[in-house]
Amino acid sequence: QAKNEGRNCFKYFSERLTHAARERIEIEYRLRLGIEKNQLRVYYQPQLEIATGKIIGAEALVRWQTDQGELIPPVRFIPIAEETGLITLIGNWVLKETCRQGKQWLDAGLPALRLAVNVSSHQLMHSDLCEVVRTSLAETGFPAHSLELELTESALMKREKEAIEILNNLHALGVHLAIDDFGTGYSSLAYLKLFPLDILKIDKSFIDDIPMAIDDMEITATIIAMAKTLRMKVIAEGVETAEQLAFLAERKCDFYQGYYTSKPLPANEFEDFIKQHPSSPLLS
Ligand code: C2E
Ligand code: MG
Ligand code: MG
Ligand code: MG
Repeated sequence: QAKNEGRNCFKYFSERLTHAARERIEIEYRLRLGIEKNQLRVYYQPQLEIATGKIIGAEALVRWQTDQGELIPPVRFIPIAEETGLITLIGNWVLKETCRQGKQWLDAGLPALRLAVNVSSHQLMHSDLCEVVRTSLAETGFPAHSLELELTESALMKREKEAIEILNNLHALGVHLAIDDFGTGYSSLAYLKLFPLDILKIDKSFIDDIPMAIDDMEITATIIAMAKTLRMKVIAEGVETAEQLAFLAERKCDFYQGYYTSKPLPANEFEDFIKQHPSSPLLS
């Protein structure tokens, strides 16, 4: 593997690689530099309670801002970072930064919001996640119950027994646990019962074609109903239209996030959004 051979071999290998592979190696190299140069940013996408319209929290989403000011979305570097293990460095940074920001908002008198951070399978299985979470909370003073961790089905399925133990330890800290992108993997709800999960996130792909796709509407309604049976809260992601929101309200989905209300925002714009939002918990 070229990446293990050091920089001297970079040119030699890169000439022999396809364009796509070369681009991956280059991105990985630039990403390492970018992390060192403090180029990662956290954006926050509001999450709202459907019944009241109140903002209940936000999902923290990483962006990479290059020196040229280009904002690189996660699809272009998270998969690469996952392959190389760099994701753990990124994920730990996002976690700490989100806790720091969350505490700053609390200190500034903003309402208590729950902030959700994505955790990759590599981070879950190959790092002492529990310890990293514990120190992030301790060092920033952000309350554990205000932190939510989003895990994917594939991360949990890889090594089930180990994953259960790690999740139990995380849960004992007081943080909330969510299953992200639900419905895109192969797990059943019976399987989910094995894990101490509080929240289920319905994948955007089921929401996209509501109200045109009857199948997706039935699947969505079934997921909501089943999650309730397991006493989990449900949040829909990728809500873009009033029709989609109305459908989710009718089916008693608890929360949503999506462009219908807001794209992910930089911290300062998110703060303005909270202050201006008519049903912000601040004003009610
Ligand atoms: P995700 O965790 O499922 O996050 C939701 C994604 O859907 C975000 O994309 C968000 O911007 C997008 N989204 C939300 N509402 C809408 C909508 O109404 N319309 C459309 N078109 N998109 C919407 P984003 O920020 O590009 O992130 C993509 C993925 O990258 C995330 O999917 C997550 O898997 C990964 N990711 C982002 N930040 C991190 C991180 O800090 N750590 C890890 N491990 N993964 C991350
Ligand atoms: Mg997520
Ligand atoms: Mg998701
Ligand atoms: Mg998704």
